[in-house]
Amino acid sequence: MRRLIPVGLLLLLTACSPNGCSGTDTTPQTGGTAVGDTVAPDPEVTPEPEPEPEPPLPEPVSWPHEAGGGLVPGSGSGAADPTLWAPGIRFPIEAAPAYANSQVYGYGGFAAPGPGGQCDTRNYSYPWRDNFCETRSWTNGFCPTGKGHQGQDIRPATCEKKVHWVVAAEAGQITSIGSYTVTVLGESGRIYRYLHMDMAGVHALFPTLASRTVTRGQHLGRVSNDFGGSATTIHMHFEIKAPVTEGGPTTVTFVPTYSSLVDSYGRLLNDSA
Ligand SMILES: [Zn+2]
Repeated sequence: MRRLIPVGLLLLLTACSPNGCSGTDTTPQTGGTAVGDTVAPDPEVTPEPEPEPEPPLPEPVSWPHEAGGGLVPGSGSGAADPTLWAPGIRFPIEAAPAYANSQVYGYGGFAAPGPGGQCDTRNYSYPWRDNFCETRSWTNGFCPTGKGHQGQDIRPATCEKKVHWVVAAEAGQITSIGSYTVTVLGESGRIYRYLHMDMAGVHALFPTLASRTVTRGQHLGRVSNDFGGSATTIHMHFEIKAPVTEGGPTTVTFVPTYSSLVDSYGRLLNDSA
């Protein structure tokens, strides 16, 4: 934007010194430019800079993943509920890649599809697959049969214990550290449970009650295979409990996990975890 300054004002401005103003004559000039006319702008007036263009939004990163509710054939019927129960959570494993799939119906599991150990590369590859409501005897009101797996199994990047960090999905308070389960009450009122971490490491990180307030993304422990006195496969079983009102009093209950994990993992891959 170029600004035009009346020549009379220009004269007044230029005729003053620290000793006072001398050129107070406002008689119209003869010849040349008359008072009130406009002249070329002061070259020292710098134009306003153009606003910086908005940086383009990053392209969403995708990865192969099956739809929610689509369990391994023969492993049960998945939840039909598509609700994003925990929007905005931090994906609960610090770094990608991670593989959401069944540790029981996967290779090396109790109901494996064929020979191969838990470190089989087919377990450590996409696509992701939901395993909430997989066949179990646990009560689960979101499963077609009223019973089923209450969370999602997630394998870390590699088949190694005590390497890959589990992080808090939401800020909150660790309310319990069991023999293989860490429970965090989030600020939203949701409850998160993280199973099968290296529990000695968890205790070392959180030795006192005062240490058990956590921020979103804070290290909780490392993925392992702790299962009380025995061992499971190397994976992290992750659960969300949320307030649910279903024609009666509100109860905090297990809710489908997969959609919130898909949402948060997409953000992790997109550097906006
Ligand atoms: Zn599980």
